[in-house]
Amino acid sequence: MDHAHDDCIFCRIIAGRAPCHRVHEDELTITFLDIFPVTPGHALVVTKEHFENIFEASEESLQAVAASARRVSGAIRRCLAPEGLAVFQLNGAAAGQSVFHYHMHLLPRSAGGSMKLHTRVPGDEQELRQIAERLVAALAEVESRD
Ligand SMILES: [Zn+2]
Repeated sequence: MDHAHDDCIFCRIIAGRAPCHRVHEDELTITFLDIFPVTPGHALVVTKEHFENIFEASEESLQAVAASARRVSGAIRRCLAPEGLAVFQLNGAAAGQSVFHYHMHLLPRSAGGSMKLHTRVPGDEQELRQIAERLVAALAEVESRD
């Protein structure tokens, strides 16, 4: 594992040098819960390779992100039954990007809820762990049927 991006929190998570509440992982992507969840179930689909943004990311990795986003969105819907699910991806500080390693947000929404994209309030550790476990179980159930 190269340490070229040791200052990048997502690279540290991918290398196993920082903890996360992992939901899904495949060859090119990892999905974990945002530790500053805007709503319960707020997840991030992240490319394993360090790309700063959509302009740098490979088409292959972006296709893998889309596939993972679809799978995890299905698990969020089954486990949490949100009224809606926002999918968004921010490039550059001016667009609101806060971690400069490509990622896509999956954000459960309810009618009348705020439309903010980020919060500085950390999620409850136990709640994050429980939600991650439920999503992992839901994904395993789908995979066992395929
Ligand atoms: Zn990185």
